[in-house]
Amino acid sequence: MRVSASPQTTSDERTFTIVFTGLGGRRAELSRLNVSYSRLRDTMCVLLSKGARIQSVSPAGSEPAAAPIESAPPVSAPVTTSKPKPSAKAVPVNLYKPKAPFLGTVTENYSLLKEGAIGRVQHITFDLSGGDPHLEYVEGQSIGIVPAGEDAKGKPHKLRLYSIASTRHGDNLEDNTVSLCVRHLQYEKDGETINGVCSTYLCDVEPGTKVKITGPVGKEMLLPEDEEANVIMLATGTGIAPMRTYLRRMFELREREENGWKFRGKAWLFMGAPKTANLLYDEDFLHYEREYPDNFRYTKAISREQQNPKGGRMYIQDRVSEHAEEIFSMIEDPKTHVYMCGLRGMEPGIDEAMSAAAEAKGLDWSELRPKLKKAHRWHVETY
Ligand SMILES: Cc1cc2nc3c(=O)[nH]c(=O)nc-3n(C[C@H](O)[C@H](O)[C@H](O)COP(=O)(O)OP(=O)(O)OC[C@H]3O[C@@H](n4cnc5c(N)ncnc54)[C@H](O)[C@@H]3O)c2cc1C
Repeated sequence: MRVSASPQTTSDERTFTIVFTGLGGRRAELSRLNVSYSRLRDTMCVLLSKGARIQSVSPAGSEPAAAPIESAPPVSAPVTTSKPKPSAKAVPVNLYKPKAPFLGTVTENYSLLKEGAIGRVQHITFDLSGGDPHLEYVEGQSIGIVPAGEDAKGKPHKLRLYSIASTRHGDNLEDNTVSLCVRHLQYEKDGETINGVCSTYLCDVEPGTKVKITGPVGKEMLLPEDEEANVIMLATGTGIAPMRTYLRRMFELREREENGWKFRGKAWLFMGAPKTANLLYDEDFLHYEREYPDNFRYTKAISREQQNPKGGRMYIQDRVSEHAEEIFSMIEDPKTHVYMCGLRGMEPGIDEAMSAAAEAKGLDWSELRPKLKKAHRWHVETY
């Protein structure tokens, strides 16, 4: 199989029309700009950095002129916007560090599990208003949480990272919150029950509490800008957090209206959980599947309730093996990206399933995977 990155274009003299909304308080109003190809990328970056939502980019003349066409501003032209937005050019990183963290106020903290589920997983939202700089982030990033209190040596606790579970606009679409999906770590050691420091702190934290937040960090799990990309997602447990942000960005009605990014590719979520009661955000994903049957597919592996073809427990890698032919056909398309997130232990199983599937096609997965990685189409964040 030939592995190619998303198609690259070469410079030429064509003129393109960028149609966008959202500048200078004119949030819903369509504006247009004609730019030469050589300035297209920079102009788009400037528009995005100023909070514009790009609706379309097409060769000049091919778009009906519903809005007046303006001439392109200089790349550095100041354009005001009502709310701070992340720049497409520079993904925000480490706006807040452990020595001077942002204090986010918890606005909600509720269980994501159904009755009969194993363990404890909470959805926790923080208000980010009032920061200077504003704590902005994009889909696929993580934030750090510094738990209150001190460690056994009397030193402040170290930060723990958590994948962001909300889109850059936040669950309330006000651009001023961030949400996490946190599993309470609890295990037995020498007959004693040990509770993880930060996950216990977060799972028990009350609304109104101010929590030390750092970041954002991470560029590994960013979504492609291409609205026609295909996105295969492999998640176990809280590894669903970044996938939820992608899927909200792609299919949540109000989010789609807000973000101006009209996903038209194919998204396929493989979700692994021990029990149905442990599935996270399941209703939302079922809703997207009903609303967008041509664009979204949702495949579950429920290890303690379903059996694999060998009669054993059904894990996510069994689902990958089951659909290997289709997955590989999708991977042949340079527009396809694969994202994996969850406990580190999921990686060998997925690797094994992909190796077997590749072999059946006469391919060597150990050669193919680094090529996909190099082409920025294989994204892994496990912990
Ligand atoms: C990029 C990234 C993203 C992450 N995203 C999320 C997320 O979205 N949601 C989420 O819940 N977590 C996420 N994590 C994990 C998170 O950062 C913490 O590691 C987790 O919450 C545990 O922290 P804690 O302070 O509760 O545990 P700690 O008090 O730090 O205890 C953890 C330590 O306990 C020990 N331990 C753990 N399990 C066992 C066991 N069974 N037996 C013996 N010892 C054990 C290990 O030494 C481990 O290092 C992410 C991690 C990374 C790196």
